[in-house]
Amino acid sequence: MTQKSKYGRPAWFWQVMDDERAVKCQACFRGCVIPDGRRGYCLGRKNLGGELYSLNYGFVGAIGVDPVEKKPLYHFRPGTTTFSLGAPGCNLSCRGCQNNGLSHPGLDWPGVLSEPGLSVALAMASLARDADSCAFTYSEPTVFVEFALDVAHEVYAAGMDSIWVTNGSMTPEVMKSLQPAVVALNIDLKGFTEKFYKEVTGGSLKVVTDNIELALSLGMWVEVTTLLIPGLNDSDGELAELSGFLAGLSADLPWHISRFFPRHLQKDIPVTPEESLRRAREIGHDQGLKHVYIGNAEGSGYSDTICPNCSEKLVERKAYGLRLDLLSGVGHCPKCRTEIPGRWFKRNEAQTKN
Ligand code: SF4
Repeated sequence: MTQKSKYGRPAWFWQVMDDERAVKCQACFRGCVIPDGRRGYCLGRKNLGGELYSLNYGFVGAIGVDPVEKKPLYHFRPGTTTFSLGAPGCNLSCRGCQNNGLSHPGLDWPGVLSEPGLSVALAMASLARDADSCAFTYSEPTVFVEFALDVAHEVYAAGMDSIWVTNGSMTPEVMKSLQPAVVALNIDLKGFTEKFYKEVTGGSLKVVTDNIELALSLGMWVEVTTLLIPGLNDSDGELAELSGFLAGLSADLPWHISRFFPRHLQKDIPVTPEESLRRAREIGHDQGLKHVYIGNAEGSGYSDTICPNCSEKLVERKAYGLRLDLLSGVGHCPKCRTEIPGRWFKRNEAQTKN
């Protein structure tokens, strides 16, 4: 073990710059140029003597076994559980960050620094508890991509697929590196103007829309989430443009409209009214999306999967649990036989069907 090993592991996705041992990180859209001894914007990556290191490798900041519906993924093996973990750091700076303690911990990181072997062991243990998949979530997995993919590859070899819950701001190289271990993504599309992205998230709309298109073109399963923030991204025009963009990619792409709760630097903004959530859902349908869901609003009645052809209820959800599931292991409406896009089979079942 070198002295550097106490600082994590050598990072992937970077290049040497010409001047004074600076390096350029190529994991996300920021492309941080990092002088020797300094960290990148996300604080998870540091230049040590002209080499980029991933400081959050093996650093488990949050861990749990969640319903896959909580990611949210509604067209991905309903009713299964997913072993979920996150490490500190984030490449955005959302004013209403819902998970600020983990995403922006400063230099004092929460969580447990573990050998990767321990994390893998925990994931394996979850297999015994019937977890169906492994999810990289809670913070932005792009900023701990090496740790996430090492775990994903380990569990993939044991038969478990992985999920990436992301703000969609990675480079194309990172996106392409996810397969085959990562098979499904939930990508935030936080608004639909560059102004909103710049002022409210610190990110770039174009990068995210390009990544949604890229993930679909790679054949990965994609669902999209928009947190509806009153007065900031909830105008009819912006929602029509956003959902129209998604429908233009695929009318079958599930869109989750999520309720905002006051957090972090947006404590002065009220909870999203139910009326706004319903209006956004109608706009999504008007733009051609077949599956528009409302999240974070218990009792809204809009978390069920309905056949777009005959209106048969196919999956009924209640508080992240299932009351009805006619799609798992089937993939089509039993009444009119319309195919419902999604991942309705476990990996071995799917191979058998193929
Ligand atoms: S992953 Fe972190 S260090 Fe790398 S470019 Fe993005 S913000 Fe900068």
